[in-house]
Amino acid sequence: MPCPARDIDFELLRLQMVEQQLQARGISDASVLRAMRTVPREVFVPDAYRHDAYRDAPLPIGSGQTISQPYIVALMTELLRLTAFDRVLEIGTGSGYQAAVLATITPHVYSVERIDRLAQGARKALNSIGLPAVRILTADGTHGWPEHAPFDAIIVTSGAPGVPEPLKLQLAEHGRLVIPSGTRYSQTLFLIERRGKDFTETEHGGCVFVPLVGRHGWSDDS
Ligand code: SAH
Repeated sequence: MPCPARDIDFELLRLQMVEQQLQARGISDASVLRAMRTVPREVFVPDAYRHDAYRDAPLPIGSGQTISQPYIVALMTELLRLTAFDRVLEIGTGSGYQAAVLATITPHVYSVERIDRLAQGARKALNSIGLPAVRILTADGTHGWPEHAPFDAIIVTSGAPGVPEPLKLQLAEHGRLVIPSGTRYSQTLFLIERRGKDFTETEHGGCVFVPLVGRHGWSDDS
């Protein structure tokens, strides 16, 4: 029997996660480490998995979706090189955990989720930890969020068949876009940076995400 969640020292597990899963693998951006030490991941996982909240793995969050492994959240956030003045767009709110990490670094966070039940759950979780300023929209995020563009940083937290054109166009000058792109079952993490009309692309390792489903993504999640 797992011990009841109320008896678990989540703060200790969180600090151990940062040391053993993040710093040990090279995450070094101070604002990312601070955010990962601050955000209570246990609030964003379903009750049944709470005791596993700091495991080195993704976990189910319902509706066939997952909350990413802590290391992947930290790596993607580090690649965005955020400052407190940056406007950030996330595609794939899911549990709201990644949005909470972003919102601990900058107050300007916009997040789009296609499944309304998840968007509502994320809203509740973010409010409960004092982050009501995160803006959440239920929609197909492959269109971006044009009303609030341009963004200094865009993070796509589901696997795409390619880079959705609207997201590139909503990047500000010197903007950074992090996106897993590849097949439905495995992807490579790409960082795309904008300089005027030019976009440079670098690769940052393999990863596995649930599919990005929408007009500029996969056509369905089967
Ligand atoms: N960032 C999330 C991880 C979510 S998993 C977290 O921290 O928990 C990926 C999410 O992307 C799923 O919730 C899925 O519903 C969502 N998604 C997939 N395609 C989408 C699209 N076109 N627009 C918005 N969200 C999408």
